[in-house]
Amino acid sequence: MAHIVTLNTPSREDWLSQLADVITSPDELLRLLDLETHENLLAGREAKRLFPLRVPRAFVARMEKGNPDDPLLKQTLTVQDEFVTAPGFSTDPLEEQNSVVPGLLHKYLNRALLLVKGGCAVNCRYCFRRHFPYAENQGNKRNWQVALDYIAAHPELDEIIFSGGDPLMAKDHELDWLITQLEGIPHIKRLRIHSRLPIVIPARITDELAARFERSSLQILLVNHINHANEVDQDFRMAMARLRKAGVTLLNQSVLLRGVNDNARVLANLSNALFDAGVMPYYIHVLDKVQGAAHFMVSDEEARTIMRELLTLVSGYMVPKLAREIGGEPSKTPLDLQLRQS
Ligand SMILES: *Cc1c(COP(=O)(O)O)cnc(C)c1O
Repeated sequence: MAHIVTLNTPSREDWLSQLADVITSPDELLRLLDLETHENLLAGREAKRLFPLRVPRAFVARMEKGNPDDPLLKQTLTVQDEFVTAPGFSTDPLEEQNSVVPGLLHKYLNRALLLVKGGCAVNCRYCFRRHFPYAENQGNKRNWQVALDYIAAHPELDEIIFSGGDPLMAKDHELDWLITQLEGIPHIKRLRIHSRLPIVIPARITDELAARFERSSLQILLVNHINHANEVDQDFRMAMARLRKAGVTLLNQSVLLRGVNDNARVLANLSNALFDAGVMPYYIHVLDKVQGAAHFMVSDEEARTIMRELLTLVSGYMVPKLAREIGGEPSKTPLDLQLRQS
């Protein structure tokens, strides 16, 4: 007998209405979580002038009510610490605000990164592009065409990375157009999409999008951006199952964040939750030193200690690579865990 499953989750096509209905008020966010009496949390609300608050309701639904230290809340709530200007923390930590072609960053040999859309569904407080001049890097066909011409003229490129902002802020018909253009460039073999949308609004993985990936002649990879096991829910697992069926390779990158995931057991739980959803851990990044995010910093020494313990807690394939980005280097730089070699 067939089971009739009634889902009270939103339909897959309604990601745009969820996007139009994101929370932008710190007061509303705290009210929804029964935290409106916490004066110290409310006191951070002015930081939205530095970088607006933006959190989808589907993500808030995974936060624990009454918990001021909830790891998902910590990633998204404005706090007073953002006003601190710490030495060494800049507004352009990766020196990427002068790209050759607007919105295209070609820093590494075989792969280039296209800033498809400036906006994002969620504003993570540690975002290294929180000061990025997105207004000058508009995602539209005219700018994309300039980038595509560059890509076509550079045969050393075999992979294009869609980034942002968040590239899945583009509509399905825009992504279809971009993918079609890339499929017409013979040396491009792979398309990689870096996005936080599938986790914050799983309905973004529409049937139309999955079907487009499925019939692409490119190999497609999705690199999710997930920092804590509590972010992974049933809707996300279903979205990943659809993409797996479409032949998409599923990876994850995290950022090591004080008060969120700076603990080997928390990272072990994350790796397990990811693998259960069919997603392989790829990178864990040391925080980029962006102004306003110094309170999230975990020192290199602490990062090494956490990663050495993580090695003992999970299978080898579940351990992400600890890395940092250094402006001007020809690749990401792995951090040596300083394990005994003999
Ligand atoms: C991080 C990054 C990449 C991808 O690097 P991988 O190590 O291949 O994941 C490519 N281009 C730019 C500009 C980047 O910042």
